Amino acid sequence: MKTNLVLLAGIFTVVSAWAQAPTEVTLTRLDCGNGFNDQRRFSDSFAYSNPKVPFTFSCYVIKHGSDYMVWDTGYLPGSTESATNKPITELLAQMNVKPDQVKFVGVSHFHADHTGQLAPFANATLLIGKGDWDGVNANPPMGGANVAGFKEWMGTNRKVKPLTADEDVFGDGSVIVFRTPGHTPGHTAVLVRLKEKGPVVLLGDAAHFHENYETNGVPSFNFDRAQTIASLERIKAIEKNLKATVIIQHDPRDIDKLPAFPSAAK
Ligand SMILES: [Zn+2]
Repeated sequence: MKTNLVLLAGIFTVVSAWAQAPTEVTLTRLDCGNGFNDQRRFSDSFAYSNPKVPFTFSCYVIKHGSDYMVWDTGYLPGSTESATNKPITELLAQMNVKPDQVKFVGVSHFHADHTGQLAPFANATLLIGKGDWDGVNANPPMGGANVAGFKEWMGTNRKVKPLTADEDVFGDGSVIVFRTPGHTPGHTAVLVRLKEKGPVVLLGDAAHFHENYETNGVPSFNFDRAQTIASLERIKAIEKNLKATVIIQHDPRDIDKLPAFPSAAK
Protein backbone atom coordinates (compact mmCIF):
# COMPACT_ATOMS: atom_id res chain seq x y z
CA MET A 1 0.00 0.00 0.00
CA LYS A 2 2.74 2.39 0.95
CA THR A 3 4.58 1.66 -2.30
CA ASN A 4 1.39 2.43 -4.27
CA LEU A 5 1.03 5.81 -2.56
CA VAL A 6 4.64 6.72 -3.37
CA LEU A 7 4.05 5.67 -6.98
CA LEU A 8 0.85 7.73 -7.11
CA ALA A 9 2.66 10.76 -5.67
CA GLY A 10 5.30 10.34 -8.37
CA ILE A 11 2.64 10.36 -11.10
CA PHE A 12 1.07 13.54 -9.69
CA THR A 13 4.49 15.24 -9.72
CA VAL A 14 4.91 14.42 -13.43
CA VAL A 15 1.39 15.64 -14.27
CA SER A 16 1.87 18.95 -12.41
CA ALA A 17 5.19 19.49 -14.18
CA TRP A 18 3.34 19.17 -17.51
CA ALA A 19 0.67 21.57 -16.30
CA GLN A 20 3.36 24.15 -15.57
CA ALA A 21 4.65 24.31 -19.16
CA PRO A 22 6.11 27.80 -19.72
CA THR A 23 3.56 30.47 -20.57
CA GLU A 24 3.64 31.53 -24.21
CA VAL A 25 5.19 34.97 -24.75
CA THR A 26 4.94 36.97 -27.98
CA LEU A 27 6.25 40.37 -29.05
CA THR A 28 4.69 42.70 -31.63
CA ARG A 29 6.05 46.03 -32.90
CA LEU A 30 3.60 48.88 -33.52
CA ASP A 31 4.53 51.79 -35.78
CA CYS A 32 4.16 54.88 -33.58
CA GLY A 33 5.48 57.51 -35.99
CA ASN A 34 8.28 58.42 -38.38
CA GLY A 35 10.39 61.43 -39.24
CA PHE A 36 13.95 62.73 -39.43
CA ASN A 37 16.47 63.93 -36.90
CA ASP A 38 19.75 65.85 -36.89
CA GLN A 39 22.28 63.17 -36.07
CA ARG A 40 24.82 65.78 -34.91
CA ARG A 41 22.78 66.22 -31.69
CA PHE A 42 23.41 62.60 -30.82
CA SER A 43 27.12 62.98 -30.10
CA ASP A 44 28.64 65.10 -27.35
CA SER A 45 32.03 64.67 -29.03
CA PHE A 46 31.13 65.70 -32.58
CA ALA A 47 31.19 62.20 -34.06
CA TYR A 48 28.42 62.74 -36.63
CA SER A 49 27.95 65.22 -39.46
CA ASN A 50 24.62 64.19 -40.99
CA PRO A 51 21.95 66.86 -40.32
CA LYS A 52 19.05 64.68 -41.52
CA VAL A 53 18.74 60.97 -40.83
CA PRO A 54 15.56 58.88 -40.79
CA PHE A 55 14.13 58.31 -37.34
CA THR A 56 11.31 55.98 -36.34
CA PHE A 57 9.12 55.71 -33.24
CA SER A 58 8.35 52.22 -31.98
CA CYS A 59 5.78 50.91 -29.52
CA TYR A 60 5.51 47.26 -28.56
CA VAL A 61 2.97 44.79 -27.24
CA ILE A 62 4.10 41.83 -25.17
CA LYS A 63 1.56 39.05 -24.72
CA HIS A 64 2.21 36.76 -21.76
CA GLY A 65 -0.38 33.98 -21.66
CA SER A 66 -3.62 35.95 -21.64
CA ASP A 67 -2.01 39.11 -20.18
CA TYR A 68 -0.87 42.14 -22.16
CA MET A 69 1.91 44.62 -21.57
CA VAL A 70 2.57 47.73 -23.68
CA TRP A 71 6.12 49.06 -23.89
CA ASP A 72 6.49 52.76 -24.84
CA THR A 73 3.61 54.64 -26.44
CA GLY A 74 5.05 57.17 -28.94
CA TYR A 75 4.01 60.79 -29.28
CA LEU A 76 0.41 61.87 -28.81
CA PRO A 77 -1.12 61.80 -32.34
CA GLY A 78 -1.35 65.33 -33.73
CA SER A 79 1.16 66.76 -31.24
CA THR A 80 4.07 66.93 -33.65
CA GLU A 81 4.96 66.23 -37.28
CA SER A 82 6.61 62.88 -36.51
CA ALA A 83 3.68 61.55 -34.49
CA THR A 84 1.63 58.73 -35.93
CA ASN A 85 -1.86 59.48 -37.22
CA LYS A 86 -2.96 55.99 -36.14
CA PRO A 87 -3.57 56.04 -32.37
CA ILE A 88 -2.20 53.10 -30.41
CA THR A 89 -5.76 52.10 -29.49
CA GLU A 90 -6.54 51.63 -33.21
CA LEU A 91 -3.48 49.42 -33.67
CA LEU A 92 -4.41 47.39 -30.60
CA ALA A 93 -7.95 46.99 -31.96
CA GLN A 94 -6.44 45.36 -35.06
CA MET A 95 -4.93 42.83 -32.65
CA ASN A 96 -8.30 42.44 -30.89
CA VAL A 97 -6.91 44.01 -27.72
CA LYS A 98 -8.92 46.57 -25.75
CA PRO A 99 -6.97 49.14 -23.71
CA ASP A 100 -8.73 47.93 -20.53
CA GLN A 101 -7.15 44.50 -21.03
CA VAL A 102 -3.62 45.89 -20.74
CA LYS A 103 -2.18 44.86 -17.38
CA PHE A 104 1.16 46.68 -17.52
CA VAL A 105 2.38 49.70 -19.42
CA GLY A 106 6.13 50.16 -19.23
CA VAL A 107 7.94 53.28 -20.37
CA SER A 108 11.65 53.40 -21.02
CA HIS A 109 11.69 57.04 -19.86
CA PHE A 110 9.63 60.20 -19.42
CA HIS A 111 10.18 61.94 -22.79
CA ALA A 112 7.13 62.88 -24.91
CA ASP A 113 7.99 60.52 -27.77
CA HIS A 114 7.57 57.53 -25.41
CA THR A 115 4.74 58.69 -23.17
CA GLY A 116 2.21 60.39 -25.46
CA GLN A 117 -0.44 57.68 -25.34
CA LEU A 118 -0.57 56.43 -21.76
CA ALA A 119 -4.05 57.77 -21.04
CA PRO A 120 -6.13 54.88 -22.52
CA PHE A 121 -4.63 52.22 -20.23
CA ALA A 122 -6.84 52.83 -17.21
CA ASN A 123 -6.43 49.39 -15.62
CA ALA A 124 -2.70 49.04 -16.17
CA THR A 125 0.10 49.34 -13.67
CA LEU A 126 2.58 51.92 -14.95
CA LEU A 127 6.18 50.70 -14.73
CA ILE A 128 8.70 53.58 -14.75
CA GLY A 129 12.17 54.07 -13.30
CA LYS A 130 11.93 55.92 -9.99
CA GLY A 131 14.37 58.59 -11.14
CA ASP A 132 12.02 59.50 -13.97
CA TRP A 133 8.86 59.29 -11.87
CA ASP A 134 10.47 61.66 -9.37
CA GLY A 135 11.38 63.97 -12.28
CA VAL A 136 7.76 64.04 -13.49
CA ASN A 137 6.50 64.88 -9.99
CA ALA A 138 9.20 67.39 -9.06
CA ASN A 139 8.30 71.06 -8.65
CA PRO A 140 9.27 72.33 -11.13
CA PRO A 141 9.38 69.10 -13.17
CA MET A 142 12.72 67.94 -14.49
CA GLY A 143 13.61 69.27 -17.98
CA GLY A 144 12.24 67.00 -20.72
CA ALA A 145 9.69 65.27 -18.48
CA ASN A 146 6.38 65.00 -20.37
CA VAL A 147 4.18 65.84 -17.38
CA ALA A 148 1.02 66.13 -19.52
CA GLY A 149 1.41 62.52 -20.64
CA PHE A 150 1.27 61.32 -17.03
CA LYS A 151 -1.68 63.48 -15.96
CA GLU A 152 -4.04 60.53 -15.30
CA TRP A 153 -1.35 58.74 -13.33
CA MET A 154 -0.54 61.55 -10.96
CA GLY A 155 -3.83 61.30 -9.06
CA THR A 156 -4.71 58.40 -6.81
CA ASN A 157 -6.87 56.32 -9.16
CA ARG A 158 -4.23 54.62 -11.23
CA LYS A 159 -1.46 52.23 -10.26
CA VAL A 160 2.17 53.28 -10.56
CA LYS A 161 5.18 51.17 -9.69
CA PRO A 162 8.27 53.38 -9.60
CA LEU A 163 11.15 50.97 -10.11
CA THR A 164 14.16 51.07 -7.82
CA ALA A 165 15.49 47.73 -9.06
CA ASP A 166 15.16 45.47 -12.10
CA GLU A 167 11.60 44.19 -12.39
CA ASP A 168 10.64 40.61 -13.30
CA VAL A 169 7.23 41.65 -14.59
CA PHE A 170 5.42 38.29 -14.68
CA GLY A 171 7.56 36.55 -12.06
CA ASP A 172 8.89 33.87 -14.44
CA GLY A 173 11.93 35.65 -15.90
CA SER A 174 10.31 36.03 -19.34
CA VAL A 175 9.98 39.83 -19.24
CA ILE A 176 12.49 41.86 -17.24
CA VAL A 177 12.52 45.65 -17.15
CA PHE A 178 16.11 46.53 -16.28
CA ARG A 179 17.83 49.70 -15.24
CA THR A 180 19.83 51.54 -17.87
CA PRO A 181 20.16 55.09 -16.49
CA GLY A 182 21.97 57.85 -18.34
CA HIS A 183 19.67 59.15 -21.07
CA THR A 184 17.40 60.13 -18.16
CA PRO A 185 17.88 59.43 -14.44
CA GLY A 186 15.47 56.48 -14.35
CA HIS A 187 15.83 55.14 -17.89
CA THR A 188 15.01 51.44 -18.34
CA ALA A 189 15.20 48.84 -21.13
CA VAL A 190 13.33 45.54 -21.35
CA LEU A 191 14.44 41.97 -21.96
CA VAL A 192 11.81 39.68 -23.51
CA ARG A 193 12.69 35.99 -23.68
CA LEU A 194 10.91 34.31 -26.58
CA LYS A 195 10.85 30.56 -27.17
CA GLU A 196 11.54 30.54 -30.92
CA LYS A 197 13.28 33.86 -31.54
CA GLY A 198 15.31 33.81 -28.34
CA PRO A 199 15.98 36.77 -26.06
CA VAL A 200 15.20 40.27 -27.38
CA VAL A 201 16.28 43.53 -25.77
CA LEU A 202 14.25 46.66 -26.50
CA LEU A 203 16.68 49.45 -25.79
CA GLY A 204 14.45 52.46 -25.18
CA ASP A 205 16.80 55.39 -25.81
CA ALA A 206 19.89 53.82 -24.24
CA ALA A 207 21.11 54.30 -27.82
CA HIS A 208 19.38 56.02 -30.74
CA PHE A 209 21.35 54.65 -33.71
CA HIS A 210 23.62 51.73 -34.55
CA GLU A 211 26.52 54.20 -34.55
CA ASN A 212 26.18 55.30 -30.94
CA TYR A 213 25.48 51.76 -29.75
CA GLU A 214 28.64 50.45 -31.42
CA THR A 215 30.95 53.26 -30.30
CA ASN A 216 29.45 54.15 -26.88
CA GLY A 217 28.50 57.52 -28.35
CA VAL A 218 26.65 59.81 -25.94
CA PRO A 219 24.06 62.37 -27.08
CA SER A 220 24.81 65.91 -25.94
CA PHE A 221 21.41 66.14 -24.20
CA ASN A 222 21.76 63.02 -22.02
CA PHE A 223 21.32 63.37 -18.27
CA ASP A 224 24.52 61.58 -17.25
CA ARG A 225 27.47 60.65 -19.49
CA ALA A 226 29.12 58.04 -17.23
CA GLN A 227 25.82 56.29 -16.56
CA THR A 228 25.06 56.20 -20.29
CA ILE A 229 28.32 54.37 -21.03
CA ALA A 230 27.87 51.99 -18.08
CA SER A 231 24.36 51.16 -19.30
CA LEU A 232 25.61 50.49 -22.84
CA GLU A 233 28.25 48.15 -21.40
CA ARG A 234 25.57 46.33 -19.42
CA ILE A 235 23.38 45.87 -22.51
CA LYS A 236 26.33 44.61 -24.56
CA ALA A 237 27.15 42.06 -21.83
CA ILE A 238 23.53 40.85 -21.88
CA GLU A 239 23.62 40.70 -25.68
CA LYS A 240 26.78 38.56 -25.56
CA ASN A 241 25.81 36.30 -22.64
CA LEU A 242 22.29 35.53 -23.86
CA LYS A 243 23.02 35.86 -27.61
CA ALA A 244 20.18 38.36 -27.56
CA THR A 245 18.72 40.36 -30.45
CA VAL A 246 19.20 44.04 -29.57
CA ILE A 247 16.62 46.43 -31.02
CA ILE A 248 17.33 50.16 -31.17
CA GLN A 249 13.82 51.53 -31.05
CA HIS A 250 14.44 54.76 -33.00
CA ASP A 251 16.65 53.24 -35.71
CA PRO A 252 14.63 52.32 -38.82
CA ARG A 253 17.31 49.74 -39.69
CA ASP A 254 16.05 47.66 -36.74
CA ILE A 255 12.37 47.59 -37.69
CA ASP A 256 12.64 44.31 -39.57
CA LYS A 257 14.26 42.51 -36.65
CA LEU A 258 10.65 41.72 -35.69
CA PRO A 259 7.85 40.48 -37.99
CA ALA A 260 5.74 43.16 -39.69
CA PHE A 261 2.58 44.23 -37.79
CA PRO A 262 0.28 42.60 -36.84
CA SER A 263 2.45 39.47 -36.80
CA ALA A 264 4.25 38.69 -33.57
CA ALA A 265 7.65 37.22 -32.80
CA LYS A 266 7.30 34.05 -30.74
ZN1 LIG B 1 13.04 58.74 -27.83
